[in-house]
Amino acid sequence: MYSCPTGSFKAYVGDATCRLCPAHSHAPVPGSSECACQSRYYRSASDTSDTPCTGTPSAPRDVSYEIIGSNVLLTWRLPKDLGGRKDVFFNIICKVCPTGSPGPCVRCGDSVQFEPRQVGLTESRVQVSNLLARVQYTFEIQAVNLVTELSPEAPQYAAINVSTSQSVPSAVPMMHQVSRTANSITLSWPQPDQPNGVILDYLLRYFDKAEDEDNSFTITSETNMATISNLSPGKIYAFQVRARTAVGYGPYSGKMYFQTLVGGERSEMVQDRLPLIVGSALGGLAFLVIAAIAILAIIFKSKRRETPYTDRLQQYISTRGLGVKYYIDPSTYEDPNEAIREFAKEIDVSFVKIEEVIGSGEFGEVCFGRLKPPGKREYTVAIKTLKSGYTDEQRREFLSEASIMGQFEHPNVIRLEGVVTKSRPVMIVTEFMENGSLDSFLRQREGQFSMLQLVGMQRGIAAGMRYLSDMNYVHRDLAARNILVNSNLVCKVSDFGLSRFLEDDASNPTYTGALGGKIPIRWTAPEAIQYRKFTSSSDVWSYGIVMWEVMSYGERPYWDMSNQDVINAIDQDYRLPPPPDCPTVLHLLMLDCWQKERVQRPKFEQIVSALDKMIRKPSALKATGTGSSRPSQPLLSNSPPDFPSLTSAHEWLDAIKMGRYKENFDQAGLTTFDVISRMTLEDIQRIGITLVGHQKKILNSIQLMRVHLNQLEPVEV
Ligand code: AMP
Repeated sequence: MYSCPTGSFKAYVGDATCRLCPAHSHAPVPGSSECACQSRYYRSASDTSDTPCTGTPSAPRDVSYEIIGSNVLLTWRLPKDLGGRKDVFFNIICKVCPTGSPGPCVRCGDSVQFEPRQVGLTESRVQVSNLLARVQYTFEIQAVNLVTELSPEAPQYAAINVSTSQSVPSAVPMMHQVSRTANSITLSWPQPDQPNGVILDYLLRYFDKAEDEDNSFTITSETNMATISNLSPGKIYAFQVRARTAVGYGPYSGKMYFQTLVGGERSEMVQDRLPLIVGSALGGLAFLVIAAIAILAIIFKSKRRETPYTDRLQQYISTRGLGVKYYIDPSTYEDPNEAIREFAKEIDVSFVKIEEVIGSGEFGEVCFGRLKPPGKREYTVAIKTLKSGYTDEQRREFLSEASIMGQFEHPNVIRLEGVVTKSRPVMIVTEFMENGSLDSFLRQREGQFSMLQLVGMQRGIAAGMRYLSDMNYVHRDLAARNILVNSNLVCKVSDFGLSRFLEDDASNPTYTGALGGKIPIRWTAPEAIQYRKFTSSSDVWSYGIVMWEVMSYGERPYWDMSNQDVINAIDQDYRLPPPPDCPTVLHLLMLDCWQKERVQRPKFEQIVSALDKMIRKPSALKATGTGSSRPSQPLLSNSPPDFPSLTSAHEWLDAIKMGRYKENFDQAGLTTFDVISRMTLEDIQRIGITLVGHQKKILNSIQLMRVHLNQLEPVEV
C-alpha cells in the first residue's frame, strides 16, 4: 500500500493504482482520495470524483430580435465557452428601462409571456408576447449549466434593448378600390395598426405594372382616400401608400394592383346594365347586334358543345370595343388545344425552375418554383404538373383550367403565367401565393387578424367574384379552400378546374355524388343542389359561406352535421349563426347571401360596396352578438351533437354537457326524442331549468333534434 503523489488520487485505501487528477482539478498534497476543483471550476451533484471539473458558460453570442406583429422573437448563438460541459440552458430576464430620463430598470410584470418558456430554455430562441406599446425593454439572456448554482458569480449574459415604440407609423395594412373609370381609380385604406402619433397625411405611390418601378408617381392625401387621375384605360397599376406623422414617414404598404376600365366603359357600375346603355348610346345598329346575339344564343343553346359561336360572338362584341368581355367555355371548342393556344401563353420549359413540392393537386403535384422569361427579372411561381400516364381526357381536363384562368385578369383572381405543353410533364404555371389556401391559413393563424384585415380579405374575394360574374363566369365551387392568399394578405379566387364535379371521382368526400355530378353540399345553394341551377346567385350563397369561414377562422361550415342534416336544416330555414365576435352587419350580409329565393340575394357588386362602407366606417363593425340579427331566422347551435349516434335522452344530455338535468327530464317523463323534440321554452322552465344560458343551449339542441327527426315548424329561440 502506498499513498498517491501530488497531482493524483485514488478513491479507496488499498492497492489500487493512483490516477491523474481529471481536468481542472488538483491534489496539492500527497495521499489524496479525491482531486479538488481548481478555483472557478466545479462538479455538479451528478458528477463523480473521476470526472473533470467544469466551469460556467460564457455569455450567449449574437443576440438579435425580430418584431413580429406585437411579439418579439429573440434569437442568439451558443456561448463560445461552454465551461467544458455539454449541457447549457438559457434564462431570460425581462426589464423595463425608462427612456430619456435616468432611473433604474424594473423587472417586467407577470403578464409578459415567453414561448416555449422563460427559464431553462434548451433552444436558442424565445418568443415574447403581451408586451406594452411604446416601451423600452431590455432582455438579458443568461447562459447557465448544472454548475452555475455552485458558482458565487452571477451567470454571464448578453443583453439587448428592444423598443416597442416605432417612432414612425407602421405600414398601412391594405388598400381597397372604391371605384374606377377608364382614366381614374379611387382607393381607400385603413389607418396603420400603430399610428404612433397623429397622422398628418399619406403619400401614395403608383406606377404602370408593365413599366419599370422607377417611373413611379406620387400624390399626397390628407384623408385615407384618394382618386388617382390621368391613368390610361385598361391598364393595371401598382399602388403603395405610407402614412406620415410629425416624426416622419412609415414604411410603404405592400404593392396592390388595380386596373382601370377599358376604353368605352364609363364607370364600373355601368357593366350590369350594359346592353341597355349600349342600345341607347350606339343606337339601332348595336341594338340589332345584341338582339341577333340573343336569338343566336337561343338557337345554339341546345348545341353548345358543337357550336362555339354564341360565346365567340359575344367575344366578337367585346373585341369591337363595346366593353363587355365574356368568358368562353373552353369545352365549346371542338379542338381544346385551340382554346389553350388562344388563352394560355406557351412557356419554354427552360425558363421554369421547379424547387419544391408544396401540395398535391387533382392531376399531380403542385410545386413552388421560379420563372425567368428572357430579358425579365426572375419571379416566384406555382407550378401544377400533370402526372405521367394520363389519358387524353385527363390532359384536356387538366389544361381546361388554364384555358379558363387565362381569360381572367383581376387582382383578386389567380393569374396564369402560362403553360408548358411541348415537353413532359405538362405544366400550368401561375403566380405564387405565399400563404397557400385560405382555409388552412386561417386555421394556422386563429385569432391573429384585426377586424379590418378580415373584412379586407372578404372584400378582396367579393371583388374577384364581381369580376368573374361580370365575365358571366359561374364558379360553382367557391369555398375558402379554393381561395389563395399571398404575402400581402391579398385573397384571390382560384380553382377553375371542373373535374372534381365529375361523377367517377370517389376520392374526395367534400364533393357528394348526386344526379348529374358531384356537389360540395355545405357551400352550395339549395336550387343548385336540387336541380343544378348554378348561377352567379348560387355563387353568392357560397360566398356567404366563405364569409362565415373567414370570420370563424376556418371552422367547417355546419361542423360535423351530416350532409343530409345540412340539407334538411337549410330547407327548414335554419342558417349558420354568427361566428364568435362576428360583427352583426357581417352576419346580416351572410344571411342575405343565404336567402332562399336567389333573386333576393345581393349581387357581388352590392356586396363589394357594402364591405367598402364598413371599411370606410369601421365603427359599424363594433356591434356583435345575435341580439340584433333578424329574429325570424332560427340559428343553429355551434355544438350540435351527432344525433344518429345518440340512443337515449341521457346520452343526449351528456353530449350537450347538460347531464345535470337528467333527473328533471326523467321526473317529467321526458325520455324519448319524439317527446323532447316538442318541448318549448316554457316546458324547459317548467321542469326546473332556471339558468337562461342552459335553457338556450337545450332549446338550440332541440331545434337540431327536430331537424334530424325531420319535423317542421322549428322552435324560435
Ligand atoms: P389545387 O389543385 O389548385 O387545389 O392546389 C392544391 C394545393 O396547392 C392548394 O391547396 C394550395 O395549398 C397549393 N397551391 C395551389 N396553387 C398555388 C399557388 N398559386 N400558390 C401557392 N400555393 C398553391
